[in-house]
Amino acid sequence: MLNTMLEKELEDFYQEVLNKYVESTKKSRKLYHTGIEVFPQGVSYSIRYFDPYPIYVRKAHGCKLWDADDNEYTDYWLGHGALILGHTSRPIIDAVKEQLERGTHFGFCHELEIKFAKTIMKHLPSVEMIRFTNSGTEANMYVTRLARAYTKRKFIVKVLGGWHGSYDALHVKVTPPFDKLDTAGLLEEITKYTLTINFNSISDVEKVFQIHGDNIACVIVEPVLGAGGAIPARREFLKVLREYCDKYNALLIFDEVITGFRVSLGGAQRLYNVYPDLTVLGKIIGGGFPIGAFGGKREIMELIDECKYQDKSLRVFHGGTFTANPISLTAGLRTINILEEENPYIKFEEMTSKVIEEGNSLASRYNINMFFTGICSIIGIHFTNKRPENAIEAYESRWSFLIYKLFHKYCIIGKIIYMTEKMPHLLLSTQHTWSDIEYLLNVIEDFIRKLSNVLRT
Ligand code: PMP
Repeated sequence: MLNTMLEKELEDFYQEVLNKYVESTKKSRKLYHTGIEVFPQGVSYSIRYFDPYPIYVRKAHGCKLWDADDNEYTDYWLGHGALILGHTSRPIIDAVKEQLERGTHFGFCHELEIKFAKTIMKHLPSVEMIRFTNSGTEANMYVTRLARAYTKRKFIVKVLGGWHGSYDALHVKVTPPFDKLDTAGLLEEITKYTLTINFNSISDVEKVFQIHGDNIACVIVEPVLGAGGAIPARREFLKVLREYCDKYNALLIFDEVITGFRVSLGGAQRLYNVYPDLTVLGKIIGGGFPIGAFGGKREIMELIDECKYQDKSLRVFHGGTFTANPISLTAGLRTINILEEENPYIKFEEMTSKVIEEGNSLASRYNINMFFTGICSIIGIHFTNKRPENAIEAYESRWSFLIYKLFHKYCIIGKIIYMTEKMPHLLLSTQHTWSDIEYLLNVIEDFIRKLSNVLRT
């Protein structure tokens, strides 16, 4: 933690940056004043808010977006990470336009759903059967239910700081303080069956299985912690999870909503060479349109089959009006086909490593406690006393809270935008160029230099 004098210096620096933000975003401020009349907090999703009001986007193209005041930003948020090809990708628009003419929503079976499923399964061999949903949250809800039904057990193990959407059983210990409920309205009777472990902690895995092993239905984990800090798992952690799940007949679920088709065509499971029983997908597979999916071992997935399981107490329900919507599937299929053709993953890894390595070396050169984490197109930035290995360290070893807001605003006035204000995770698209990366590093260096002056005074 900073001493009072340095906090004051930091506050002055923040005020200076904030004034520039307010000066350059007058139209956004005006829109926000109207937005607050109709939406709680003025926004359609609370994480889209940042202090004192967010920018309002007017249009977006490639990796750039423009706000209501015509400021141009390089976007490292990309529609919550969904737009791996960047905004308004021409082939996606063309494919969707064609599909619009053929039908926006059938509500019946259609060939595209099979073609799309096969394409996903070709890249994810652990997915032997699949079902589509409309969001990652929904997919996680179903997959949890499936695991409980299959194992006939109650307990779910998740990671502290892991985000799987706001389904009651999974909206547990996502943000600090971790000893409080994450949202009002959650019943303890429900969350008491959700156990948490620290990301990358093998001893936590051993402990939770030793105590609860025979009652654990599943362990659900993001192989790269996303909203919890863009922190990659150590392979050993995932391997041990796999071993313990096997030993205790619990299911291992990878939530690859962020990592699916982002860290490789085969997701994080291929990168780590550790395979789950069930996989959850979302974001990228919708090509910029709403989607989610879950899939895995045939024997588990077949529990959804009403023909096979006529007794409803044995089978698992899954459905939804817009499931397998042809617009999302068209955009998603085209996206995956382009990723197959372009194979951007080596470049993603090179760009990511460059930011992480140079960022870390700049921070150490200027003696600032700032750490860059991440993997293949996912970058986390932490103002912590050490490089975080999990969300607890990412949150609890912070040496200042204001620094996060300050850095976020500093980037915005430098025409770089990422989310979130409280936990920076930057995502790349195929539209980011090496000059975007150079520019990002310049802004980071500029910031670090100014910060080191402020902290030295
Ligand atoms: N899982 C992970 C890993 C996510 O990052 C998210 C969303 N950011 C979700 C699930 C929830 O997905 P959705 O917002 O589509 O419901």
